[in-house]
Amino acid sequence: MVRTSTTEAVVLRKIRIGEIHKALTLFSPENGLLSAIAHGAFKMKSKLRTASEPFHVIRVYLYHNPVSDQYKITDIESLNALDGIRRSVERYYAASLWAEVIIKSYGGGESFGVPYRLLVDSLSLLEHAQQRCITHLTCQYLMRFLDILGQRPDFEHCGICASGFDTQSGVYLSREERVLVCHRCAKPSAMYLPAGARRYLGSTLKMPLEVAVRIGLEDRSLQAVKEAAYFLVQATLETNLNALKSGVGIL
Ligand SMILES: [Zn+2]
Repeated sequence: MVRTSTTEAVVLRKIRIGEIHKALTLFSPENGLLSAIAHGAFKMKSKLRTASEPFHVIRVYLYHNPVSDQYKITDIESLNALDGIRRSVERYYAASLWAEVIIKSYGGGESFGVPYRLLVDSLSLLEHAQQRCITHLTCQYLMRFLDILGQRPDFEHCGICASGFDTQSGVYLSREERVLVCHRCAKPSAMYLPAGARRYLGSTLKMPLEVAVRIGLEDRSLQAVKEAAYFLVQATLETNLNALKSGVGIL
């Protein structure tokens, strides 16, 4: 039986154990979520110290202890440090939100390669992103993640009467059905999305991510897209996201 293995991964979360050890949650394109202990990684001189920080893209070498059924990290090679994320509170909170979505969806379904690529591509763009671009990236990331889960609403047709949306009218997000609906089908509890917000979603999600984040959107529409994305992701995962609570005023 093979006890050692290696995989590429992103560090999603670290928890301190005792004085000097780190328990890491890793996301790997082959294995999905992995918990592994980096012994001594809080020591100043530890070779595991830097690369075991959140949002580092790494190649990790693991030893599986069959008795405790735990993974131990024997070595880490840095593939992309993404230092710019840890230097900005806004970027760090955004990345924490994205990581929590991966953790709470158990890695985003059956195949981990696609959500992994989305996460790494988004983190790479986030590293040097300015405030407004961070919000664009979060909207793109969350909507694309919903698409991977098969939970993205149709942006072209009313989810109840199936009529096509016209370009100039706003639409509504039904909280019960989690679909976009026209003004005739909307209940009072529905969330309003300006016409620009719907057009933005309909067109940008088909674009490569690095192109989509450069597409402008007026404030009111950007805010509506963000609120819709937060609502849809939490409704799909059937849980509140802690990052949104701790990041109030930032995210
Ligand atoms: Zn309708």
